[in-house]
Amino acid sequence: MFMENLTVTAKVFTACAACGEAVVFESNSEEKIICTRCGSTVKKHGRNSALFVTAFSISAFMLFVPALLYPVLDISVSSLSSSATVLGSIKALYEEGLGAVGLLVLLTSVIVPMGFLLTCFYVAVSALLRRRLPMFIPAMRLANFFQEWHMADVFLVGILVSIVKLIDMSELTFDYGIYLLMLVCTFTAITEVYYDTLLFRIKAGNYD
Ligand SMILES: [Zn+2]
Repeated sequence: MFMENLTVTAKVFTACAACGEAVVFESNSEEKIICTRCGSTVKKHGRNSALFVTAFSISAFMLFVPALLYPVLDISVSSLSSSATVLGSIKALYEEGLGAVGLLVLLTSVIVPMGFLLTCFYVAVSALLRRRLPMFIPAMRLANFFQEWHMADVFLVGILVSIVKLIDMSELTFDYGIYLLMLVCTFTAITEVYYDTLLFRIKAGNYD
């Protein structure tokens, strides 16, 4: 409420996360704020950032479901052929007695990235509507935590590396799943580029 009443003159007092230099700027500033001492970004560019995060996070989330269910590759060795899905490969790890590895892959490549996209979406919608939705701060904390641990892109690189290794031994063809996974990783990267805790807190009227 405080921010809404003083939108024109309200200032944001904060410190650079990298060097601790005090930074002051107008709360309604849409410009990117750079630390004058070390050059780190204090606040990202505000224009359309909430809109981009909303659009790309929900698109990535919706593509995630078919990306998990569609085959990523088709492998043929002599007369045998098999196709692998992400969920199928996690299940195979579990069945091979590598349950801990399977669980790690499930967490870092599926659950955490999906959680990151959902929490980002919620926080961005709150910023877009310029009001603090219920559980705004817990959602933002969760998004920040998930941001450190989502590794769907690492998983994708792992698949690509194994393809390079296997390509001489068998006949490999890419399937829909890998393209979907690439789109998910691209959209997640775009979400991360525009996602900014400080900016969204200011926009949602939660800076105090
Ligand atoms: Zn600095």
